[in-house]
Amino acid sequence: MQKHHISAVIISILMLAACVVAGVTFLEHRKVEPIVRGPGVTEIVKLSKWYPGLEGTAADTDVYIFKGEAPGGSMLVLGGTHPNEPSGFLSAVLLIENATMASGTLYVIPRANNSGFSHNDPQEGAPTGYHFTLSDGSTRFFRYGSRATNPIHQWPDPDVYVHAASGQTLSGNETRNLNRGYPGRTDGTLTEKACYGITQMILAEKIGLSVDLHEASPEYPVINAIVAHERAMPVASQVVLGLEFSDITIGLEPSPKNLRGLTHRELGDATDTLAVLMETANPSQGRLRGRTDEALALEGKDLYYIKAQQLGRLYVPFDEKGHSIEERVGRHLSALIEFAFAMSSEYPDQPIEINGIPAYDELQQAGLGAYLRPLQ
Ligand SMILES: [Zn+2]
Repeated sequence: MQKHHISAVIISILMLAACVVAGVTFLEHRKVEPIVRGPGVTEIVKLSKWYPGLEGTAADTDVYIFKGEAPGGSMLVLGGTHPNEPSGFLSAVLLIENATMASGTLYVIPRANNSGFSHNDPQEGAPTGYHFTLSDGSTRFFRYGSRATNPIHQWPDPDVYVHAASGQTLSGNETRNLNRGYPGRTDGTLTEKACYGITQMILAEKIGLSVDLHEASPEYPVINAIVAHERAMPVASQVVLGLEFSDITIGLEPSPKNLRGLTHRELGDATDTLAVLMETANPSQGRLRGRTDEALALEGKDLYYIKAQQLGRLYVPFDEKGHSIEERVGRHLSALIEFAFAMSSEYPDQPIEINGIPAYDELQQAGLGAYLRPLQ
């Protein structure tokens, strides 16, 4: 064999090896990190149970059901509607791994937009994911994810997104935003089908309260707030007061009637559920942020946001303490406890009692990793 033939063979083998490594790494992104089944979980089913059209698609996602010891009301918690808002997803994970139900039924969907967890937003410089150290010294990793459905699963975007039920128009990339697709439809996009599945589940299970967990950038006006459908206002007002007694300040905003496709509007209109959405402060998704890395996502400290606060540009306080993941998850979990309490006092014949969730102060002191379970 001539010399250049040998080098051609060697280069081909190296290229093939690079393709295999890149291919395996790429496909690995489709495997999501495990969530450990906690003591209160009585059943894990797929969303396709309520809409079989989702079966085998990237939008079919796990639903964790907690049937209480005593009967009562029911509550749905959506995490990961926007996967790049870590406190929503992680609050759902802490529920799954720790919560038990004394009465009523809890439904938790940690990855409401399952497809969105399989990629990152381009040009955002977001970290691949984040790690936690557990009490036994082991670590757990979770990916960062994107705001929207992966274009691999739904492509191409139209120039203009038209919300099917209302005709409302938005920019084309909102076609892949789960929180613009409700109540969903069967002959629409994958994102709309996921919305449809969640709506069907609420209808079939007659879920009394639905809480969608989010985060917002510190310069966004709706932050550290509950957005409530008009029928959910009495319960949400009780929650605001309850949190105030625990020194957690939270705003209450009415769900705008002309902003369509969002959980707090469409789930409240299309079903009997009381629909609310909650926001915490996440500098790692803001426009004013500096270096974007794992530390920013978890510790929430950023010099540029301190400066922005001094210039009066923010809607939340921001100092060198930042907004840690423990603060953000602690706010969501404390509010969920208050929601269960408020539902039980508003509808005494349908109590919802959740136990086992770390209290706000415990979470700040021990750190989030202390409430994750080791992988076997
Ligand atoms: Zn969001």
